[in-house]
Amino acid sequence: MNNGKIVKSFDISDEDLSLINAYTRRQMSKDELYCFSIVLCDNEIDRDFEQFPTEELYKIAELFVGRTGIFDHNPSTENQCARLYDCCVEVDITRKNSVGEEYACVMAKAYIPVNDGTKQLVEDIDSGIKKEVSIGCSALGTVCSICGKDMYRGECVHRKGQIYGGVQCYGKLCGISDAYEWSFVAVPSQRAAGVIKNKGLEGDMLESVFKRLEKPGELTLSDDDKTKLCAYIEKLKGICADGEEYRQELKSDILRLNAIKGGIDHSVMSAVVERMTIPELKAFKAAYTKKETQPQLYKSGKTCGSTCDEYNI
Ligand SMILES: [Zn+2]
Repeated sequence: MNNGKIVKSFDISDEDLSLINAYTRRQMSKDELYCFSIVLCDNEIDRDFEQFPTEELYKIAELFVGRTGIFDHNPSTENQCARLYDCCVEVDITRKNSVGEEYACVMAKAYIPVNDGTKQLVEDIDSGIKKEVSIGCSALGTVCSICGKDMYRGECVHRKGQIYGGVQCYGKLCGISDAYEWSFVAVPSQRAAGVIKNKGLEGDMLESVFKRLEKPGELTLSDDDKTKLCAYIEKLKGICADGEEYRQELKSDILRLNAIKGGIDHSVMSAVVERMTIPELKAFKAAYTKKETQPQLYKSGKTCGSTCDEYNI
């Protein structure tokens, strides 16, 4: 999803202080605290062609109050030093998102206790080094913007990002049910490196580029390196698209098999498969397929009258 942004630090009001002190072990004074506001997310279509519809933003605002922030999605406790104490949805009636809806976003206020351990973080926020945040939450379903059906339950034939009748398809993330975390993320170039470096096995040049990407400071690439890097990214995109297609097929198969077997409630199963890895999905499908072949129908040979056949399982 699009990353949220730290907007600004601000002076703490009495109201802020009382909200903050609801979360602290002891009453804190204004000069012991540093506060800043964040746009957690909005109703814009993101680069995965997904969107939080405005009504879901209200759920997100509710779920994120009280949540602590972490660094780079690493949820160890020593990282948890900033907490959201107030969240609300702001609608800007003068601005539209890319699909013509009134722009809306979730604004959050966060506090950090000021001490030696958090001094660097406060400086990084003030200087703009830490300026982006990302959030993690789960959606029960993804509704297709073209047909209005759920995109992962085998009912929708559309694909996110594709154009149908001149309109681009996107998925509306609905039924936001859980807020996992919010996290400071590093500057954009490092974020890109974080994605690539897991697969950095494409020769020495790429290795060296990745190493440089991980280091702080600006990075200059030669034209040759740029071309190779772009080609590599294109290749990865292809692999990702194939993987995603395979994952969608597995999810649809499992939901279909589950519906046939009537095992687990459909909405529960949909939420579960969303979180599964491909090996997990494969194992699940294999288990269902195995089960499916065991019970067999035998025609008994006996009939009850001329119109009714009896089957034994
Ligand atoms: Zn559809």
